[in-house]
Amino acid sequence: MKPPIFSYHDPRTTNDVVALLGSLDNAKLLAGGQSLMPMLNMRFVLPDHVIDLNRVDGLSFIREQNGAFEFGALEIGAMTRQRDIEFSDLVRQSCPLLHEAIAQVGHRQTRNRGTLGGSLCHLDPAAELVTVAAALDARMAVSGKNGTRSVDFSAFPVAYMTPALEPDELVTGATLPCWPAGHGYAFVEFSRRRGDFAIVSAAALIVEKNGKVTRASVTLGGLGAAPVRAHEVERALIGETIEEKRVREICEPLRKLDAIDDIHAPASYRRQLATVLARRALLKAHARIVAGAGS
Ligand SMILES: Cc1cc2nc3c(=O)[nH]c(=O)nc-3n(C[C@H](O)[C@H](O)[C@H](O)COP(=O)(O)OP(=O)(O)OC[C@H]3O[C@@H](n4cnc5c(N)ncnc54)[C@H](O)[C@@H]3O)c2cc1C
Repeated sequence: MKPPIFSYHDPRTTNDVVALLGSLDNAKLLAGGQSLMPMLNMRFVLPDHVIDLNRVDGLSFIREQNGAFEFGALEIGAMTRQRDIEFSDLVRQSCPLLHEAIAQVGHRQTRNRGTLGGSLCHLDPAAELVTVAAALDARMAVSGKNGTRSVDFSAFPVAYMTPALEPDELVTGATLPCWPAGHGYAFVEFSRRRGDFAIVSAAALIVEKNGKVTRASVTLGGLGAAPVRAHEVERALIGETIEEKRVREICEPLRKLDAIDDIHAPASYRRQLATVLARRALLKAHARIVAGAGS
């Protein structure tokens, strides 16, 4: 399969990208190409212009951000390769949920090219990085002709695989707030084969004090058109001691969530996975705290 004919643009600065986006009709940004190229080849997208971000300065970085967040945050540039995130000591220490999830994204070959920004903008609801961004309440840094703005990740998906971006905007990076030292974390997923997109995934983060949960984040990927934060479960966990029977009870309401019904799995199966994977993720996160292996 061959892509449709398009004009190729190779800008060097974010301002040049914004100017191109503002002046060209029907343009697509190219990051790692791991989703865009197949979509071009299958003629799912037919852009007249492709704007390559690969030689744009200043979009690839992983750095600490102190100040705005109680426990600090990581700032990651949109063009940072998934493989660089996978091998970053800073990510492993400051954001172990991301470290655990990224190893489950595709294959090392796709992670060599695929980027954080590409995955978050492609917004496949089953994508691991999308689920992690929702779990951590990430903030997206967006640049356009009116300057820069920050978008809470909870408001970033506006429809199925559609980010809250204007036609002249690009994502330049994401800020991922850190959780306190000693928190429990786990990212678990069910996919047909290793390296496939998850059918359903679950991300859990918990903080415990004197054996009781004081803070929780539970997120399900692959269930709906965007990742689902299980706020009811999060609230029910507060003050609880994590043990299997109680976590099973707390996760039961997940069986009632709306779920996608498609060729990969019926909605009922996705709900069953959500219920089981959320429980497993919570128990794994708790086990890490008990073992002193929390972050
Ligand atoms: C064999 C295979 C297996 C895979 N398995 C998985 C998997 O298990 N889990 C998973 O999550 N992914 C998987 N992927 C997809 C992969 O992770 C991609 O890297 C990711 O979906 C897109 O990232 P990219 O950098 O390649 O973006 P691209 O493909 O270049 O772009 C994707 C989309 O995002 C837009 N975009 C890119 N960057 C920006 C930006 N900065 N601002 C605004 N818009 C932007 C593009 O215009 C395009 O619409 C797989 C891919 C392959 C080929």
